[in-house]
Amino acid sequence: MSFSSLDLSKEMLENLDFIGYESMTPIQAEALPLILQNKDLIAQAKTGSGKTAAFGIGLLSKLDVKKFRVQSLVLCPTRELADQVAKELRTIAKFAHNIKVLTLTGGVAFGPQLGSLKHGAHIIVGTPGRVLKHLKKDILNLENLETLVLDEADRMLDMGFIEEIQEVLSFAPTKRQTLLFSATYPDEIMKLSKSIQQDAVSVKTKDIEVLNKITERFYEVEDATKVQALINVLSNFEPTNVIVFCNTKLECDELSKKLQDKKIDALALHGDMEQYDRNDVLVQFSNNSASVLVATDVAARGLDIKELSMVINYDLPHSTETYTHRIGRTGRAGAEGLAFTFYNERNYEYAKEYENDTRIFEDISKLKTIEGYKMIPEFVTLVIEGGKKDKLRAGDILGALTGEAGLKGTAIGKIDIYDKQAYVAIQNAEIDKAETRLKKGKIKNKKFSVWVL
Ligand code: ADP
Ligand code: MG
Repeated sequence: MSFSSLDLSKEMLENLDFIGYESMTPIQAEALPLILQNKDLIAQAKTGSGKTAAFGIGLLSKLDVKKFRVQSLVLCPTRELADQVAKELRTIAKFAHNIKVLTLTGGVAFGPQLGSLKHGAHIIVGTPGRVLKHLKKDILNLENLETLVLDEADRMLDMGFIEEIQEVLSFAPTKRQTLLFSATYPDEIMKLSKSIQQDAVSVKTKDIEVLNKITERFYEVEDATKVQALINVLSNFEPTNVIVFCNTKLECDELSKKLQDKKIDALALHGDMEQYDRNDVLVQFSNNSASVLVATDVAARGLDIKELSMVINYDLPHSTETYTHRIGRTGRAGAEGLAFTFYNERNYEYAKEYENDTRIFEDISKLKTIEGYKMIPEFVTLVIEGGKKDKLRAGDILGALTGEAGLKGTAIGKIDIYDKQAYVAIQNAEIDKAETRLKKGKIKNKKFSVWVL
């Protein structure tokens, strides 16, 4: 937890000590080593956890002070936040002379900003709209940009800054480090990350995980009985939605098929799948039209499914960090979570490392086989071949289904709208009705192709 464990200059360390930062906060300890390795990062931690210094120390320690060019850009949702961030950066920047941090935000006159920019700066902190204005007028140049930070990325998305952010990025070099900081972690953050980051690593602070109420159980299971053991876990604990982690893509495919044969509604998710297939799977899992997701770590990275009731490590994870990451997906926001881990004779030694006071190591024979158990999700997903590009909104779809198709509002679940497609969760019993009616009818006076996933 000590800053001195990082590869920071003596001057940086002395100044941190001087400003009273004795040790790293949890998010700083998680994020800083990766930032210093030049990784793209999505960092999530609650408000007041020291996120500013996490990226601030990172970008300042990389700065080449002698090169008087904009090397870092921090985008914030509001002027107040930009001011706050700039202030903190200036405090941390005191380890060196003459580091210039400039704020560019809306709601203040353009002229003085222009004047300041002409004098040059190392770091720009600003709001997307105003930064873009300076870029378009060719006053601000990002050719030498090394690090881009989106602070409070969730709020910027909420405030509809997405297009401006994308446009700002079109002025930045593609070879850069991109850091995304956020207090919450909605699906949109994942989407944004995919479009602007490369191989981004997600970090979340332990203090979020500590709040999770997770019951952890471990079972020794041999390969021959593994599928049945998994079904026994499901039938005895009856989760509503589960992620089953496998260590290989092949195993994901095979296991999901075996589960389907046993009337457990499972879908595979892994990195060899096409992007649109992955998206179909994720939508179905998040709108409750698939109960079990069989996934590799990479594919499930950053996936934020609220109220996930169970995580199963079908294979023992390769590291304890992976374990923590996997099980941290359940038991969110105070809800009870269940985490099950299978190991076998061969990796028994590794499994033993997990032993502690709270983890339960149990004999798998305790879980009886319950005949005829099925997992059938509440909803089925209907795809409409029309989306944002067709100006389709959730209200239009809801209107068409409840109006012309005659469905009750309660029969309709989550609606996800993408550029060219919309996904609607429809209660099982109503799916045929919804499909036939939508095929015949129109939405917003237009005909769209419709099919069931
Ligand atoms: P966040 O962006 O996560 O909401 P801030 O970056 O605004 O939080 O930090 C909250 C407060 O914690 C600030 O006043 C900051 O100066 C202080 N702080 C940050 N890092 C440390 C540290 N390592 N030790 C002590 N105080 C810190
Ligand atoms: Mg902050």
